[in-house]
Amino acid sequence: MSLLETINTTCPYCAEAIELVIDCSEHEQRYIEDCFVCCRPISLEVLLDSSGYPAVQARHEDDV
Ligand SMILES: [Zn+2]
Repeated sequence: MSLLETINTTCPYCAEAIELVIDCSEHEQRYIEDCFVCCRPISLEVLLDSSGYPAVQARHEDDV
C-alpha cells in the first residue's frame, strides 16, 4: 500500500469536489488547507480506518 492516498471530498463553503493527497503515515491528523476553488480555509480531519484507508471530514474552519 502506498503511503500517499488520493481522496475526494467536498468543500464545505462552495461545495466543489476537491481532491486531497493524504499522507497515511500519520494515523490521525488535522490541518487547514485552502480550497483551491474559493480559497477559503477548510479544516480537515483525517482518520485512518482499520485497513489504513483514510476517511476525511471537511469543515468550516470556525466550526472547530
Ligand atoms: Zn471552496
